[in-house]
Amino acid sequence: MAEAPQMDVLAIAAHRDDVEQTCGGSLLVQQALGWRTAILDLTQGESGTRGSAAERAAEATEAASILRVSHREALDLPDGSLQNTIENRLKIAGVLRRLRPRVVILPYWQGRHPDHYTTATLGYEACFAAGLSKLDLPGAPHRPYKILYASLYADVRPSFVVDITPHVETRLQALLAYRSQYGNQTEGSGLFVPEEEIRERTFASARHYGLLAGVRYAEPFVLKEVALVDDLMHLPVASI
Ligand SMILES: [Zn+2]
Repeated sequence: MAEAPQMDVLAIAAHRDDVEQTCGGSLLVQQALGWRTAILDLTQGESGTRGSAAERAAEATEAASILRVSHREALDLPDGSLQNTIENRLKIAGVLRRLRPRVVILPYWQGRHPDHYTTATLGYEACFAAGLSKLDLPGAPHRPYKILYASLYADVRPSFVVDITPHVETRLQALLAYRSQYGNQTEGSGLFVPEEEIRERTFASARHYGLLAGVRYAEPFVLKEVALVDDLMHLPVASI
């Protein structure tokens, strides 16, 4: 594999299509600002009810180009039974040392799907491990400066939201690239939602988070650390 250049923002998720749902708009915002964005999917989707891993790989490539990310790759961790093991931490730490992102986006640490909340802890510990100089891994030690948790599916108050209004339609197109999951289908219609439902659901949730900050559409994030303010005069979002 050709050596990827250093990335600025790396979104790590359990499944192909997770990033498209939770922080794809924010990746588009960062790309438009001139930063190099990337996605690391930890699994390849072999346990999905619909679509093979190969189909999902092709869809993920298409979605990556719609999201205009500079780089996307998938590890081979077991879909549906992700574990926070040393081996898995090292695999992710290896990618972090190669891509050297300043900002890492992880899923929020609570949720319905065990793969999602496991990714939050596994990803955090991989970020820590990647900075250990004595770790038996190729590449210079690297620790991301900032770790954000994408909290769209979590019932928590976000620390901040990103205005994705100009990109909300593109984000939807990236999600719809996963035709094996979201296309209008006759078979399995009880399990899989049609395109109109996806549109309504994703726009409603983006609208909800947008309203919290006085913009049209937004994506929410949680920080573990506090935010620091330089100038009270430039705090965004009106109080009344
Ligand atoms: Zn998922």
